[in-house]
Amino acid sequence: MTERPYVVDEMISAKAIAARIEELSREIKRDFSQTDKLYVVGLLRGSFVFIADLVRELDLPVEVDFLEASSYGDAMESSREVRILKDLRGPIEGRDVLLVEDIVDTGHTLNHVISLLQSRSPKRLRTIALLDKPTRREVDVRADWIGFEIPDEFVVGYGIDFAQRNRNLAFIGKVRFEGGE
Ligand code: 5GP
Ligand code: MG
Ligand code: MG
Repeated sequence: MTERPYVVDEMISAKAIAARIEELSREIKRDFSQTDKLYVVGLLRGSFVFIADLVRELDLPVEVDFLEASSYGDAMESSREVRILKDLRGPIEGRDVLLVEDIVDTGHTLNHVISLLQSRSPKRLRTIALLDKPTRREVDVRADWIGFEIPDEFVVGYGIDFAQRNRNLAFIGKVRFEGGE
């Protein structure tokens, strides 16, 4: 399946992503202006490029940690079952926490991870997603900050993969199979 030839059509340019991150960082900084240190949690692996750019714009004291939840595997459909594959290194009780996700699609992952983190009694938990596909939602969840709303297309790049490829594209693009679907 993954050997089927495809091309990636640019949807959001690197420049547009950078400009949006600058805007979002200003809002986040304002919202967390009282924090002594922000505990930034990236959801692996898709958020690794986003979190790297985001924390460098934030200009707040931050601690960076990662959490890995089970994902699509190499398929293009959500499994709807969320398992934690790698947990946080540190406790978040009483901390200001920012959860960073690449894409909110059906919403199962974000919903599950928010419940998990809330159960650990952070002082404040906020969420940011680079991309949101609202038309795909199956559970009622929304990130506090969203980079871009996108239509129901399978996207890659800027950390986001298709069968582990294309994470290193500087832009977000949509996958188009050669010769049609
Ligand atoms: P959800 O649980 O909201 O259905 O989706 C969670 C995860 O599915 C996202 O964080 C992302 O990792 C993956 N996902 C959703 N849409 C896409 C997409 O268009 N492309 C890729 N590569 N992954 C996606
Ligand atoms: Mg993800
Ligand atoms: Mg993936």
